[in-house]
Amino acid sequence: MDLLSIDSLSDSQIATILDRSQHFFAANRAGRSTDALSGRILFNLFYENSTRTLMSFATAAHRLGASVVALPVDQSSVNKGETLGDTAHTLNAMRPDVLVIRHHDNGAADAVAAIMEAPVINAGDGTNEHPTQALLDAASLQHKLGKLGGVNIAICGDIRHSRVARSNAKLLPRLGAEVRLAGPPELMPDGAPAMTVDEAITGADVVMMLRVQRERLDSEFGDAPGEYLELYGLTAKRLANAAPGALVMHPGPINRGDEIDGAIADDAERSLITLQVEMGVATRMACLELMVGPTN
Ligand code: ASP
Repeated sequence: MDLLSIDSLSDSQIATILDRSQHFFAANRAGRSTDALSGRILFNLFYENSTRTLMSFATAAHRLGASVVALPVDQSSVNKGETLGDTAHTLNAMRPDVLVIRHHDNGAADAVAAIMEAPVINAGDGTNEHPTQALLDAASLQHKLGKLGGVNIAICGDIRHSRVARSNAKLLPRLGAEVRLAGPPELMPDGAPAMTVDEAITGADVVMMLRVQRERLDSEFGDAPGEYLELYGLTAKRLANAAPGALVMHPGPINRGDEIDGAIADDAERSLITLQVEMGVATRMACLELMVGPTN
């Protein structure tokens, strides 16, 4: 089984991953590890920068007793002109038990999965999808709220370039949540319903902020200090219009003073940002167990 998109998961697989996420979250806090994946090898193949996803997949594998081998892409034969397909054939010949890939091209994980015999996990392909981020976001909300049914979630920022928004917009409604997407008109996907950030945040139970993905933009956007925050970012004034006690999420990395006021990101009462990171390890353990566990 591969995990390339939220669409590739059945409702019962999603339920299993979310349920096991809570189990591993508690086990990790209690300092308990398992050897369920002892002797298995995970390959990390990251063509784009990563802190949370790269480290949490490695940590998740180690906590399950598996070993991790990461290809340092910048020092690899990719710089000698090797294609993604040839790299995939090469890595397949080494017989890993699972491969995690992040790549700047939409569809890259699918292309690699078509070659690899081992399961492949999409850790972000271009602007397309980042399914394990959406799963850990759902698990974090379940942990905090106990349920997702009827919860209003405003996802705000650079929706056009966000694989996190795309995966969450598929997953969260399947779990009964209502998702509103909003951002600057220039950073909304073509044909998306027009909603301002202020409209989306009004009455929301959860506000998920996204950074502007400037590495994917051809020209500068809202780069003057404080400009983006003032027009579209999460300030105390905007958050005051959300539901009382509304929770704040962000997949990271945060750009303080740009899409989010640093004080809101640090507000331990409302910000789930650190919980999302902690849950990220647990959710990736749940995904690895499902995909490479003893029953597979
Ligand atoms: N870390 C997330 C991603 O890789 C979000 C971001 O980079 O803004 O998609």
